[in-house]
Amino acid sequence: MISLSLIIFSIFCLYNSERLFTHLGKQSIADIENALEQTRTETKHILNLISADQSCSQLAPELRQTVFMSDYAKEIGVFKGSPTIYCTSTEGYSQVQIYSTIFDRIIHSPTHETLAFTRTAITKQNSILYIYSDNQFNGISMVIPPRYLTRLINGIINQEDLIFDIKVYQYHILGQNHQDYIKSMVFNSDIFPLQIEFFFTVKTYISYLLSKIWVLLCIYFSLLSCYLYKRKIVIQKKSLESSILHALEAKQFEVYFQPIVKSSDRSVAGCEALLRWNHPTQGFIPPNIFIPLAERLGFIEQLTDFVIDQATALHEHYPHLMQNKYVSVNIARELICSTEFTDKIIGRCINHSSFAKNIAFEITENGDFSDSEQNMVNRNFRLLSHSGMRLFVDDFGTGYSGLNFVRQFHFDTLKIDQVFVKNLGHEPHLNNVLISMLQLAESLKMRVIVEGVETQEQLAILQQLGVDYIQGYLFSKPLPQPLWLDYLAQHGDVQQVASSELAYSH
Ligand code: C2E
Ligand code: CA
Ligand code: CA
Repeated sequence: MISLSLIIFSIFCLYNSERLFTHLGKQSIADIENALEQTRTETKHILNLISADQSCSQLAPELRQTVFMSDYAKEIGVFKGSPTIYCTSTEGYSQVQIYSTIFDRIIHSPTHETLAFTRTAITKQNSILYIYSDNQFNGISMVIPPRYLTRLINGIINQEDLIFDIKVYQYHILGQNHQDYIKSMVFNSDIFPLQIEFFFTVKTYISYLLSKIWVLLCIYFSLLSCYLYKRKIVIQKKSLESSILHALEAKQFEVYFQPIVKSSDRSVAGCEALLRWNHPTQGFIPPNIFIPLAERLGFIEQLTDFVIDQATALHEHYPHLMQNKYVSVNIARELICSTEFTDKIIGRCINHSSFAKNIAFEITENGDFSDSEQNMVNRNFRLLSHSGMRLFVDDFGTGYSGLNFVRQFHFDTLKIDQVFVKNLGHEPHLNNVLISMLQLAESLKMRVIVEGVETQEQLAILQQLGVDYIQGYLFSKPLPQPLWLDYLAQHGDVQQVASSELAYSH
């Protein structure tokens, strides 16, 4: 985990440092350009004095005053139409020549400005000259101590271990010692012959990594939480695996019943038996989790037997309420292939004449049977059909129960999956899909149940399309046995959809 965090952290830092330093370099150039622009604005008024032919004795106090006020210019000299500085803020009258190469740069610059390198006469320190002029080449030359620009850059990069140098034309201004650097980055100004170069040493990288240590911690703790969460799921799964085998004895399973309503007269035709697992510590576990688990552990037959027992008991104990009402039981794919399971059911049909009338099987099929499995399925379906058992095709249209499957055997009922109902009334093409499914069912002499009906609008459309049976929260959610019996007692044979009845949709 630590090494993975370090790898992710290194990739992050590599990518991020490159972006960060590029940004800082460009920002440094921009800030120096702004500082020079500001200095030009602060000193511009002097150009008028030069044009007005003021003598040096008149000009010098103004130059000193401007130097005093300026943030960057520490010495100012002026020239008029030629490269001779005739007056300066420090010495008054002078006759200093500006190099012709520098003067050429001013002439050819679109904004008539440039930077140059100089070494101050007294301190012999490297300095920067900022020179600009108007269109008549009356101009100003200013000495800017490099530390002013260094301060600007330091304020932006805010990192002591990043060495940099400023280059004006081809001269290094700071001459920093950067021999042991690993990599450098160069940033150029578009306006001035100005370059900033960052030198990255081992120290720079270490200090950068340290400043981003919180990222490493975040990565580490995120990975740790993912790992712990995954472990929790694995442990939960393992504990589910071990507890499902005892859950039946511990009476943690319960069968719920959801009504299936005839759409023409709203009478209750039957119900679907849906299994519920109430785990003592993990609470309610949805069937989509525990059914596949039971299938994997070879426990599904016991569970299905339990559901069938409960369904049969319902008819035995409440014959008046359950009269002419079937209970449909979901049969897992594994059991469709099992001869033992089928023979057991046939035995029930023989022993209890009403079994085949009272119980129906819902089957979902995805067609990926091997040849020998397919032979078993054919045999089992044939036997069940001959015994009078009604077989429903579940989840039709989802890609699991396909057309081939439906055509192969005689199924009693087609259960159309709830995905076709969800947007009914909002997606016009759904009506056509349903119409073709209904035509198919009619041609195969099958009844149709549409699942997942939740609204009056959906019900109205389905009734208009001629759907036989409806199952969905609109009538009731799946109910535990006592509530299911109440429901049957209250509604009798005819189901009214009124808001009061939604009390069953708990
Ligand atoms: P299924 O066979 O398609 O069952 C219908 C599912 O749709 C049920 O979910 C039911 O509660 C839900 N449902 C019914 N009406 C509506 C509605 O109007 N809106 C919405 N959103 N849902 C509705 P449940 O009970 O969670 O069961 C899920 C799946 O678990 C079942 O899907 C079935 O495949 C499986 N299952 C449940 N009990 C058993 C069982 O005893 N044996 C086997 N093999 N599978 C079972
Ligand atoms: Ca079902
Ligand atoms: Ca279904």
